[in-house]
Amino acid sequence: MPILEKISQSSRARHWTDSIPLEFHYTAGVAGEEFRRELKKNGRFLASKCAKCKNSYVPARMFCPTCFIEIKDTRTIDEPGYVYSYTTVNRNRTGEPSEPVTIALIRFEGVKGGIVHKLNNEPNKVTFGMKVVAILKDNAERTGALTDIIAFKPE
Ligand SMILES: [Zn+2]
Repeated sequence: MPILEKISQSSRARHWTDSIPLEFHYTAGVAGEEFRRELKKNGRFLASKCAKCKNSYVPARMFCPTCFIEIKDTRTIDEPGYVYSYTTVNRNRTGEPSEPVTIALIRFEGVKGGIVHKLNNEPNKVTFGMKVVAILKDNAERTGALTDIIAFKPE
């Protein structure tokens, strides 16, 4: 069909199903790499700290979204996090009923941003502001991915 030819009746359109073998590789970026390296090596979360506005951000990032300047300072977060928001999912990806899984946005005092992850707790016992800590894979099993975090649990 020439490129300028238009279909005026949708019943005349042809389609087929196939696949295109493409592969993508993404990097986590400079700050993301540092965050992942700290998680893998020391099992801690790395935050970026802006020298101008003094805000800290987790996960670590290269630029301050408030000041629009490069962030060069980092600090580790050694305090427990807290449940900022959560939801409980009781269906799997195909919509079938499944065991309930609680997903929470975990934030840290004095730090902007947060980490969305599973929360190991009975759904009806989760409260906003509940202090939580990360359950990590063993050091030898960690790869520097967010899946190094098994889940969060009450402190
Ligand atoms: Zn700033």
